[in-house]
Amino acid sequence: MQPRSAAERREDLVALYKEARGCVLCPLAEGRTQVVFGNGDSDADLMFVGEGPGFHEDQQGLPFVGRAGQLLDELLGEIGLDRSKVFVANVVKCRPPGNRDPQPDEIESCRPYLWKQVELIEPDVVCTLGNFATKLLTRSSRGITQVAGKPQEGEVGGRRVVLYPLFHPAAALRTPATRERLREDFARLPELLAAVRRPADTGPEPEPAAAPQLGLFG
Ligand code: URA
Repeated sequence: MQPRSAAERREDLVALYKEARGCVLCPLAEGRTQVVFGNGDSDADLMFVGEGPGFHEDQQGLPFVGRAGQLLDELLGEIGLDRSKVFVANVVKCRPPGNRDPQPDEIESCRPYLWKQVELIEPDVVCTLGNFATKLLTRSSRGITQVAGKPQEGEVGGRRVVLYPLFHPAAALRTPATRERLREDFARLPELLAAVRRPADTGPEPEPAAAPQLGLFG
């Protein structure tokens, strides 16, 4: 397939956003104020995937704008990254009532949006924040405590990516030890990004098998 320009992919992402805004594929549509599609750089190398919008996100239509989002911004700042340089999305795009867990049918209804986002944005590294995003994207039942901070190969939306599971910032707000752990795992992100980033699109796709040789997996 012909590589598509960032402008073409952005145009398709905007079209996807317009489609998602009117989505009624699952019961979450009934309780939402608005769809929280995700935001950031539509050509980002690094993507974050959380669980689902909370109260503030539902009100503002933007992901991670509450306290967990402030912590995310702080942690990004500590590694010299700004939110505008990454793309932030969620497993489900509409707020579950009372912030309950998203249900399997809701996750499944929303999954094609996330898959398409990854296909269009073409990130190299996708950080899954917490259990829901981690289990969905790694296609495994292994929980975040087992896999946090361990990069692994993945395939999302037909694209090979490095998945980097991280504790959810909301969990880090509740527990100081988790916050420290999240901070340490964040600190390893620049090294991970540098290792997987293709040299300015001049070279071929990185061989998935090359990654373990960089000593970043396992
Ligand atoms: N928690 C999430 O998982 N996503 C948000 O957008 C906000 C809080």
